[in-house]
Amino acid sequence: MVADPVRGVDYPATYQQLLAWFPDDAACLDYLASLRWAEGFVCPGCGGGEYWRTGAGLWMCKRCQRRTSVTAGTIFHRTRTPLSTWFAAIWFVTSQKNGVSALGLQRVLGFGSYETAWAWLHKLRRAMVRPERDRLSGVVELDETMIGGVSRGTMGGFGDKVGVLVAVEHNDARRLGRVRLAVAQRPGTTELVDFGTAVIEPGSLVRTDGARALRRLATLGFTHEYTTSYTTADRASVLPGVHLVASLLKRWLIGTLHYRVEEQHLPYYLDEYTFRFNRRTSRSRGLLFYRLLEQAVQTDPHPLHTLLKPNESHIPDFT
Ligand SMILES: [Zn+2]
Repeated sequence: MVADPVRGVDYPATYQQLLAWFPDDAACLDYLASLRWAEGFVCPGCGGGEYWRTGAGLWMCKRCQRRTSVTAGTIFHRTRTPLSTWFAAIWFVTSQKNGVSALGLQRVLGFGSYETAWAWLHKLRRAMVRPERDRLSGVVELDETMIGGVSRGTMGGFGDKVGVLVAVEHNDARRLGRVRLAVAQRPGTTELVDFGTAVIEPGSLVRTDGARALRRLATLGFTHEYTTSYTTADRASVLPGVHLVASLLKRWLIGTLHYRVEEQHLPYYLDEYTFRFNRRTSRSRGLLFYRLLEQAVQTDPHPLHTLLKPNESHIPDFT
């Protein structure tokens, strides 16, 4: 991973530059290889570093002759679409501040099918959160918020509210840091405490409401600050960071994406929101393109049937 990639050198600065750099699959494959093997090619068979290029996207180890595909085991595995189209899609998804709906992507890339655009967006969402991501630290607000308009699929009807766990760094009085989000699965349990311990660095100051179950945080390596004396009406002033994140998230889900969210896919929408929120101050949108591609070559393929629930006849919403 390049710590501080340079605009116009490590990643394209503009859409025109993107087109110039990546006219064909060969150029895209070279770029993917440089991201996947940032320290140089290493044969997964014998650990050798010497190779020949054989055929499109294949690196053959000089020592053991094993061939490795730069796209094998990534979301680009066995794609039949030119990689330059994938690159254009990633550019489009990352260059829009709020992202893009499947219908928007279908239109801009001229896909015949909505389902293809929908599947691409879901594949990219799988690449938006690094599994080894750092934990939040410093002053962190922790709370649960309810998201409305989430469909529970064929059995559950529409309009249910789903709980979302929110942790957000509060850098100072005005600035928020990074966010972590998760769908609440077990209401009325210590789930929020478990989430907090998973995503917040021990030693941090954690602010919550006065729920009794949360007082365990003080015994788990955190400094715990809580407020009991407030009503629902002034909740915003007690945990302003969570309140802001929750309202922006709701606006994004319902306003920007223009489609209802199904509960089974909500975790991935939360991943996309996290990706965007945590990079909202990035100097360059091109840097988001770079980071997403970098993560995409480390992410499993996720064929369509695993994106959809196999036991459900899921039809994407066309609105
Ligand atoms: Zn080898």
